[in-house]
Amino acid sequence: TFIALARAVPTTDWTLHLLAPTEPEVMRATLLARGIALAATVALMLLAAFGLWRWRRAGERRSEEARARAELEDRVAERTAALSDANGRLLAEAEERRRAESALAQLRDERAQVNRLAIMGQIAASVAHEINQPVAAIRTSADNSAIHLERGNTAAVARNLATIAGLTERVGAITGQLRAFGRRGTPAPELVPLGEAVRGALLLIGHRLKRQGVPLEGEEAGDGLFVVASRVRLEQVFVNLFQNALDALDGRPDGVIRLIVAYTDERVRVSVLDSGPGLAPEVAAALFTPFRTTKPQGLGLGLVICHDIVTGFGGTLSASSRSEGGACFVLDLKRGMP
Ligand code: ADP
Repeated sequence: TFIALARAVPTTDWTLHLLAPTEPEVMRATLLARGIALAATVALMLLAAFGLWRWRRAGERRSEEARARAELEDRVAERTAALSDANGRLLAEAEERRRAESALAQLRDERAQVNRLAIMGQIAASVAHEINQPVAAIRTSADNSAIHLERGNTAAVARNLATIAGLTERVGAITGQLRAFGRRGTPAPELVPLGEAVRGALLLIGHRLKRQGVPLEGEEAGDGLFVVASRVRLEQVFVNLFQNALDALDGRPDGVIRLIVAYTDERVRVSVLDSGPGLAPEVAAALFTPFRTTKPQGLGLGLVICHDIVTGFGGTLSASSRSEGGACFVLDLKRGMP
């Protein structure tokens, strides 16, 4: 097959006819078409392979995700179980701790009670003497009143009766103090007049101070100040500290106990100083530890109990030896405003 071509030759009336063969063109076009078809087929196959690969990857990823999720859920379940286990243990421990704390509080109460009873035992003789004096004075006043009455001297009788009333008040104060001191239980913190707590302690051991001839300086230092405490317990602390100071001063002719009070708006600091030998090294090294005692008859519990009591009021008790000799016990208490 040929393609017939014709063109007029200019300036002549001739026409040039050309017969061009079609085979080479058809061959080229067929080759091109085959090439395009091949490229398209390869591209399609590649696309299909890519699509297949993507689909498989997505499938794999989905199953991987499902596995990971299942694993996570397992782990969460495990952790939840462990946590609820731990929670249960914690609750049990908290309960155990609460029981132990209440047992400890009870033990402390009992220890404090034992300490008060021991103090009462020690001071019984002094207190009996303290009561005997006014009782003897009451007896004398009563005898005198009888004589004055016989003589018709009513003014003197009235004077004696007033004396008797005053003396019975003193006896009542001492016995009341003893009764309160021996009472059980943990009283709630209250506002305690510091000066009165010091004098309450003196009602119980004043006689021993007198007998040993030891002056208490600064007895009135706490007057007008209030602290957050329990009156009886605070008196118990003072009785213990004064007794320890008196023990330390035993046999020293010029012994003295001094009370120093300093305060801010929030705190009151009471220092009890003595001119004794100061704290023994083995006591100072483990202060407020039970059964540390240097006394043959000592129990080594007084200071531990004082520490418990003061801590119970939100205060602190500390002790040191003074450079000039003697011991210094410092009570740091919350100040109360009436
Ligand atoms: P106890 O009086 O039964 O020994 P305490 O706990 O009251 O128990 O005292 C413990 C020890 O602390 C005493 O044995 C004593 O050695 C020492 N101590 C306490 N107060 C003083 C003080 N004012 N001066 C010297 N030592 C003291």
